[in-house]
Amino acid sequence: MSSDFSAEAKLADLESEMKSTLKWLQLEFVSKNGKVDVSEPLTAHSTLNAKEVPLSGFTGSIDEKKCRRCGSEDISVSRTVEWWKMNGDAGGQLTSWCQVCGLQLSSSWSDE
Ligand SMILES: [Zn+2]
Repeated sequence: MSSDFSAEAKLADLESEMKSTLKWLQLEFVSKNGKVDVSEPLTAHSTLNAKEVPLSGFTGSIDEKKCRRCGSEDISVSRTVEWWKMNGDAGGQLTSWCQVCGLQLSSSWSDE
């Protein structure tokens, strides 16, 4: 890539650049020490790998029991309510988060 970033640029800047350039929906950076937080400055890392994180929003499923990427069963699932109706139906987002590799997946749910 031939993007110019300022000295204060953070990984988050690179992330948004890559998302728009590569059409990746979600990605994460990893160094030899593991996953790197995007709030870190770019200059803190000389070598980094970026990888695309598959989102299940398109397949409509989350990993509630077992992580599809690393196979861990240490998954936390959260459910948020985004809308509800007079008849009691509600819906929102389900998000699963692998405690081991950090894979985050989300899908929508509803009572309808
Ligand atoms: Zn995992």
